[in-house]
Amino acid sequence: MATKLLFDTAKQIPDTLPRAQLQSDPETRYDVLVIGAGPTGLACGIEAQRAGFKALVVDKGCVVNSIYHYPANMVFFTTPELLEIGDIPFTSPNQKPNRNEALEYYRKVVEHYHLPVAQYQKVETVSGEDGDFHVATSDRLGRIYDYQVRKLIVATGYYDLPNILNIPGEDLPKVFHYYREPHPFFDMDVMIIGGKNSAAIAALDLWRHGARVTLVHRGEKMSSRSVKYWILPDIENRIKAKEITAYFKTTAEEITADHVLLKTPSGDVEIRNDFVFALTGYHPDYDFLRAMGIELCPDQCRPVCDPVTLESNVPGIYVAGVIVAGSRTSEIFIENGRFHGQQIAAHLRKKLAASA
Ligand SMILES: Cc1cc2nc3c(=O)[nH]c(=O)nc-3n(C[C@H](O)[C@H](O)[C@H](O)COP(=O)(O)OP(=O)(O)OC[C@H]3O[C@@H](n4cnc5c(N)ncnc54)[C@H](O)[C@@H]3O)c2cc1C
Repeated sequence: MATKLLFDTAKQIPDTLPRAQLQSDPETRYDVLVIGAGPTGLACGIEAQRAGFKALVVDKGCVVNSIYHYPANMVFFTTPELLEIGDIPFTSPNQKPNRNEALEYYRKVVEHYHLPVAQYQKVETVSGEDGDFHVATSDRLGRIYDYQVRKLIVATGYYDLPNILNIPGEDLPKVFHYYREPHPFFDMDVMIIGGKNSAAIAALDLWRHGARVTLVHRGEKMSSRSVKYWILPDIENRIKAKEITAYFKTTAEEITADHVLLKTPSGDVEIRNDFVFALTGYHPDYDFLRAMGIELCPDQCRPVCDPVTLESNVPGIYVAGVIVAGSRTSEIFIENGRFHGQQIAAHLRKKLAASA
């Protein structure tokens, strides 16, 4: 049967690197390959394995790579039992667990299920068709691996691609789209751009650790829909007390070495600045999905899929986790995305058993 090339980035791979193997050896044959080892991808791998299939999870980073890159001292807004996957209890002495506890928990779950996870392998190309997909990955040294799989689950999340501002100066090294920790910004002029939860938390953390914080948001106040109810009074009171300077209905127009130019309702204002955190959200890698042939709805870029089985318009390719919500990334999170593995496994049982 002719092999249809769905996604080929081979042109980006230098000639000196070894080519993808033409024949897969037995260790690279799997019933199910999951792209992404986030909470959803792990849950999918576990459920596929529990359903009796040989499964492999592949991630371009480490296990729960997105959570690893979250702010170092972050505390989840979810209680631990709602982050559980594979029926493994998540116990914590805290009402809400922190990032380290979650990293520990997901590592233990992987160990418990002996779930094969190929870390530091980025999926580069997907070719073939239902029952006979070929997935080529590359590792950190540019080596190519070729997997032959019957079904594919895509759970690639949204945290790798920030929503950019598209303004001059955004590419300066002082501008970040991810917030990690406050210490390097002590006694510095720091601007946060954004009005949602992540922006509020970063502004408070930086202010509490000695940074001079200016918050800029295009809305008329902090988003009471997005900022958690226990964070909102804290940020609002810091703004009211002028401990954090806030500009609402304002946009950043240009970032320069020592300033940021703002467009405020009362005219342009230039603010002294050392660092900028543009915390304006993230989005799924739509090109990656499209390159596999997955159609996206025109308005919110949701992948076309069966809502029950999560099989996409490409037979044999399933979508899972936050990418199912397209640009509405706050609709699906760990609490609800963790059940996608069971939905997909139920369908896999029927399909793969029928074709065995
Ligand atoms: C600061 C912060 C706090 C949050 N707190 C909570 C909370 O309290 N409760 C909650 O339920 N949700 C929370 N969320 C949201 C939640 O973390 C995400 O919705 C969730 O991680 C999505 O899970 P996922 O498995 O779909 O994607 P991810 O966890 O993003 O996993 C996707 C994985 O795919 C990998 N990947 C991407 N492309 C490729 C490729 N080409 N090849 C191989 N691997 C690839 C990535 O490296 C990543 O590991 C929070 C988010 C943030 C940013």
